[in-house]
Amino acid sequence: MLPRVTDANSHFWRGGEHGRLQFLRCTPCGTWIHPTSPRCPACLSKELSVEAVSGRASVLTYTFNHQPWVPSPDHPYPIAIVEIEEQEGLRLMTNLVHVAGEDVAIGMAVQVVFEQHEDVWFPLFEPADPKLRRGVGR
Ligand SMILES: [Zn+2]
Repeated sequence: MLPRVTDANSHFWRGGEHGRLQFLRCTPCGTWIHPTSPRCPACLSKELSVEAVSGRASVLTYTFNHQPWVPSPDHPYPIAIVEIEEQEGLRLMTNLVHVAGEDVAIGMAVQVVFEQHEDVWFPLFEPADPKLRRGVGR
């Protein structure tokens, strides 16, 4: 179940240890890069550095799956593709947590929360609106 953490992707899988959702970012043109790549897809530069985003995103699409990405007694979690606020097209497949299924909607504002499994911190997303959050602090 756990992703293989390498030097090339540890910023992504372990950033949550410090509460940071991190991606590679191109130094010359500022493009955020995901999935990890040795070159910027926009300008082909190899000058990339690790930077953290705000953690805010919106739901592009979602589905309910009974085989959750993260093992959990609470499944089914909604599985979603979220778009990170910093850049159009910067997208993650993730699970939505702390939300009632009937409240999930396309365009919903969400924010990152991390769930640790061994040495991996999965970036999951919960509603940005506290009124829509369920079961936090369980
Ligand atoms: Zn670039």
